[in-house]
Amino acid sequence: MQKVLSVLCGKYCAGTVQDSYTAAMANPTAPQPEIMMPETLALVAGSRAAYVVQTSGEIDCLSFGEAARAIRNASLPPLVCHARRTGLRLGLGPEPLRAFDVLELFAFVKPAEFCLPTPLGLAQALDLPLPANHEDEAIALIRVGEALLRQLVNLPHPDERHRLGLVGLAHAMNLGGWPWAKPVLAALGERFEGDTPHSQSLRRAFRVWDKLPEWEDRGFEAKPGDAPVSPLEARNRLAEMLASQTSEERPGQQQFAAGVTAAFDPCDVADQPRFVLAEAGTGVGKTLGYVAPASVWADKNDGTVWLSTFTRNLQRQLDDELDRLYPDPDEKKRRVVIRKGRENYFCLLNFEEALGRMETRPGGAIALGLVARWVLATRDGDMAGGDFPAWLPDMMGRGLVRELTDTKGECIYSACPHFAKCFIEHSKRRAKRAKLVIANHALVMMQTALGSSCS
Ligand code: SF4
Repeated sequence: MQKVLSVLCGKYCAGTVQDSYTAAMANPTAPQPEIMMPETLALVAGSRAAYVVQTSGEIDCLSFGEAARAIRNASLPPLVCHARRTGLRLGLGPEPLRAFDVLELFAFVKPAEFCLPTPLGLAQALDLPLPANHEDEAIALIRVGEALLRQLVNLPHPDERHRLGLVGLAHAMNLGGWPWAKPVLAALGERFEGDTPHSQSLRRAFRVWDKLPEWEDRGFEAKPGDAPVSPLEARNRLAEMLASQTSEERPGQQQFAAGVTAAFDPCDVADQPRFVLAEAGTGVGKTLGYVAPASVWADKNDGTVWLSTFTRNLQRQLDDELDRLYPDPDEKKRRVVIRKGRENYFCLLNFEEALGRMETRPGGAIALGLVARWVLATRDGDMAGGDFPAWLPDMMGRGLVRELTDTKGECIYSACPHFAKCFIEHSKRRAKRAKLVIANHALVMMQTALGSSCS
């Protein structure tokens, strides 16, 4: 197909790739962190054609067949966004395309952070110029790769242990065939000469449990108070949460917030809890309408209010809304806990077992390395709708995600060597001290039936 345009001045990686890589190899005494983008094709598969930035800097528009051939003939894997999807679009079959996938690099450098799995989404997440068409997207892949490697070069953690942890993982992922391993090691200031670190130090790189905090059991928990919430307090809290919003006041929302306060009146008769059945139309602002009195009650009584929704998506939406109540992420982490069924959470013991299988399946080191990065950054270990990237299971295989969660009910509780660091146990204990717990009806009903928080 026709050549579309030639936009880049010289090689996109001029002066940073092969030359500097070779230079670093020639100077064995002082390796410096540096950006070594691979000198290879950058490829975006659109709906009808593929757009390829050649190493000369020219951009070609190719048919999928031509693009597939170009990949086969290239000496290095291509630079892409979402290798599996790209391979399928090019007709390369269901096996993941071996590629420098910028999404994998994102998951390694910025674990537990959000981005849409497209060149545009990555450019947005990294504050880079936004691509306007497929040619721009192909160029954006190069900028994204460079920006991520630069973040490793300028690591904000001066902590040498942190750097060594990343180095260990990159070495282990290299054994699994991760194309980014060498550029990552170069950005971390590590010389790579093809030597393999001792297998023990490779295994250590995956021992995330060594770096996780233990949960504290506070023993006796004081009973919360029983002070009511007045309609005026609820309206004031609502006004505080909406202070940054410029839209008009909504009298219906204020009425709703004031009406819900009756649910927090002290009980007069034992075993007869107060309840309010309220209905309001779409757009009234019900969520903040009930969050307002609930949060006032939790503050006044040093207690916890559970907010129960129907689906996991609604749990996430409710969590997003609570940014208005707790704009500081650290405070929000202390005050708000999302609770779900245990099958949603990462299980350290299952992860350890998956590491054991790596000896026979070395390719698994790539996915497990990305998971290890996430485990040390996650807010709560929730792999289904939390801060685990929604696109990662697609790339590493949904079966592996299932293997790593507590789906089969095989938890051995206090007999587990990781019990004191377990995300599920942590989340249960944090929920006891939180102001607001965002749960779903299934979990609440199960806990009510069992009369405890054992799930
Ligand atoms: S306590 Fe249970 S869920 Fe937690 S890590 Fe151990 S086996 Fe997994």
